[in-house]
Amino acid sequence: MEKDIQEILLTEEQIKTRIAELGKELTADYAGKDPIIVGVLKGVVVFYADMIREIKTHCEMDFMWISSYAGTNSTGKMEVKRDIASDIKGRHVLILEDIYDTGNSLDFTYRHLMSREPASLKICTLLDKPERRQVEFTPDYVGIEVPDEFVVGYGLDYNEKYRELPYVGVLKEEIYK
Ligand code: 5GP
Ligand code: MG
Repeated sequence: MEKDIQEILLTEEQIKTRIAELGKELTADYAGKDPIIVGVLKGVVVFYADMIREIKTHCEMDFMWISSYAGTNSTGKMEVKRDIASDIKGRHVLILEDIYDTGNSLDFTYRHLMSREPASLKICTLLDKPERRQVEFTPDYVGIEVPDEFVVGYGLDYNEKYRELPYVGVLKEEIYK
């Protein structure tokens, strides 16, 4: 285990199993709808790559890059660093996110895309950290609930580190305190 990690919360195997289950649901729900799957960069990249391969129906890929987070504390300020390239008007769109924490990012992303009049707009988040909620949503698809700890790995970073870890782990407090 990487030395800065205090505890592994979700193993590769657990993540894989849950993604396969979500894949079955998404495949059934989006069959024949040619959805556009919008990944919210950068944390989602690892999840996106695994998730897309479990959706066994034709879909298009697009990405949006928003920035809101400095270190471990949400600044609450959000900006679009890179917008999606597709015209989503009248299309079925599914947002993929790494983690739903305060809800500010998802709220921002949802409104941003909703204003372009998609036929449907749903949210799938791999992790859900319900304890720090500021904006309540009901994501349509939730992978795994996690406790109120700062987690890294499987795409999630702390100051751009630890994204490459294959598991989701709790970062030792001494690293960010
Ligand atoms: P929210 O806007 O819901 O507070 O947070 C969403 C974003 O904050 C996520 O997309 C992620 O980038 C970041 N974030 C929230 N909680 C964590 C966490 O425990 N670890 C990491 N690495 N990022 C987090
Ligand atoms: Mg993110």
